[in-house]
Amino acid sequence: MNVPEMFGSMVFNDNVMREMLPKKVYQSLQNTMIAGSALDEDVADIVASAMKEWAVSKGATHFTHWFQPMTGITAEKHDSFLTVDKSGCIIMDFSGKELTKGEPDASSFPSGGLRATFEARGYTAWDPTSYAFIKDDTLCIPTAFCSYTGQILDKKTPLLRSMDAISGEAVRALALFGKNVRRVNATIGAEQEYFLIDKEDYSKRLDLRLTGRTVIGAPAAKGQEMEDHYFGSIRPRVKAFMADLDEELWKLGITAKTEHNEVAPCQHEMAPIFDNANKATDANQLTMEMMKKVAERHGFACLLHEKPFEGINGSGKHNNWALSTDEGENLLDPGKTPKDNAQFLLFLTAVIKAVDDYQDLLRISVASAGNDHRLGANEAPPAIVSIFVGDELNSVIESIIEDKPFKGKSSSFRLDIGTSVLPKLARDNSDRNRTSPFAFTGNKFEFRMPGSSFNIACTNVMLNTAVADALKDFCDELEGAEDFNEALNVLLKRELSEHKRILFNGNGYSKEWEEEAERRGLSNYKRTPDALVHYCDEKNVRLFKRHKVYTEEEMDSRLEISLDEYQKAIHIEAVTMLEMLRRQILPAAIRFSSSLASSVQMKESIGVSANADKALCAKASTLCDGLLLKTDELEECVAGCPAETEKAAFYAADKIIPAMEEARRLCDELETITDKSYWPVPTYSEMLFYV
Ligand code: ADP
Ligand code: MG
Repeated sequence: MNVPEMFGSMVFNDNVMREMLPKKVYQSLQNTMIAGSALDEDVADIVASAMKEWAVSKGATHFTHWFQPMTGITAEKHDSFLTVDKSGCIIMDFSGKELTKGEPDASSFPSGGLRATFEARGYTAWDPTSYAFIKDDTLCIPTAFCSYTGQILDKKTPLLRSMDAISGEAVRALALFGKNVRRVNATIGAEQEYFLIDKEDYSKRLDLRLTGRTVIGAPAAKGQEMEDHYFGSIRPRVKAFMADLDEELWKLGITAKTEHNEVAPCQHEMAPIFDNANKATDANQLTMEMMKKVAERHGFACLLHEKPFEGINGSGKHNNWALSTDEGENLLDPGKTPKDNAQFLLFLTAVIKAVDDYQDLLRISVASAGNDHRLGANEAPPAIVSIFVGDELNSVIESIIEDKPFKGKSSSFRLDIGTSVLPKLARDNSDRNRTSPFAFTGNKFEFRMPGSSFNIACTNVMLNTAVADALKDFCDELEGAEDFNEALNVLLKRELSEHKRILFNGNGYSKEWEEEAERRGLSNYKRTPDALVHYCDEKNVRLFKRHKVYTEEEMDSRLEISLDEYQKAIHIEAVTMLEMLRRQILPAAIRFSSSLASSVQMKESIGVSANADKALCAKASTLCDGLLLKTDELEECVAGCPAETEKAAFYAADKIIPAMEEARRLCDELETITDKSYWPVPTYSEMLFYV
């Protein structure tokens, strides 16, 4: 396999453009991509025609605008290139207009009240900063999605806006250090976790099919306690899947790099090489889609839910984040000279301030019914946002705050920002704190709270905008300073003192941390609605307006959509559970207990002891009685859900989830005593330890 040749073969990337477009057109497109200048129609026509020619040569027959509505998944509407020309002949055609703008009927996508149904029109607009690609014989054109009145209805547009915001402020900050750059990009490497189970098992479980997770199921005899799966040898079937997935991703220009087993049985991970936030987000959306598709081909179902199985680890998506100039300088790299160190400390401090000031937004960006099973459980970061910087950087920060000599591993000296050189910070693996939700890992931050099924756009919108805001304040202060180093020292000392409460290097899973965090005044929103209701807090609205990322109306709509999505997810889970209990579990358990009852009768009629049968029958029957009661209660509970969205979301968290849990406990207990041949759905041991 010639990987370099295959890589990006299905992408209309820079090489192809350079080859296929007239020089002037190529230049003009470059300007649009880098400076965001508008693309004129003639240019668009030429680009479209080249794109079509390229796509057709690769076997494509259709095109689609590929966008990311608020559902979190990508949407497409395919049109063929087919056109009838004036002489009645069939030709393959694609115009600049079709490339740059599409008009899908927007009425069936969530808008949170932004777009009244009678004004159904929405439009998609080409995002030339992410390459077009071919998938399933269809040319896919990455696009933004807006309502006709200009309000955004998707996840890509705010991300692009937030990238502009942080670029602008970071460019300003770099100018303070005498650097003249055109653009700073947020760079993202999203590590994707997932489960693979046998498709046959999957298809037998209504809960997996409808909700993505098992709403019932007793634990398997073996879980992850032997710690034998993480980085363990990979099953041949899974290996074949991974090889196939790599190939599909490489063709799409996605830099799949690392594939390994994760902690839980059947759990795996794929990490790509990082890219700018926009491309990395598109790539991650495509990766998730490809994982599902390739899994099918190998007789697997790929589960992207955050908690498909109770009692073993769930899946997250680590969002590695840094800032990089157009010349490739990583601004979170501490550097080697005093000047680079000072610049690093300024950016580091901006991140610390941003994460402290906007902890709530980061928590909100990862809030969902699925992720609530992860955050705060003893396997994933807690619901409290804090930053891990490691011992060495921590002593640097302390020496700045307290104006005292810096004590490093090998040296101790007075740190004078702008003149002293920082010690080389160790990038020691063992130093990494796995329990921290937001960890500095040498030259980037790793945000570990996002759930595996998430679109990472939202998290990065929050992060980019919050850091942009901190940088803006810093630049406003430093630009006017007479003595820059002096002003920088004052600023760092003040800001680090003010925000040091967000730094925590200890065990994030411990109970003590929860209490300590409360003393420090950090927020701890355990459930999605608890977090979401803070989205439109005044400070947050001010932030997004200030950087032109969201209008207040757009925020209101997003809040409405998120609350609604949450309560609907719980509702679907509850109804699915009811259906399984009533139509599968209870009938099966009753059949089982009545078989025992017959056995008792028969045995006693011939004077044989039936004590075991009797005892088991009694136990199963009692559990069935209890389960029926809990099922009725759950049904009543679901029926009582209020109509208003916020109330419904809290009702789901307060009432429906506990009712589901009560029913589940009885069901799972029943499972453990029921004859396997009666049990109507595959069990955890069957699903997790398939052969
Ligand atoms: P691990 O965390 O498993 O030790 P790495 O630290 O090498 O692995 O990288 C994890 C992810 O972070 C990868 O997707 C990688 O591409 C990404 N990454 C590395 N450097 C950066 C950066 N500067 N910006 C964003 N992501 C990065
Ligand atoms: Mg990692």
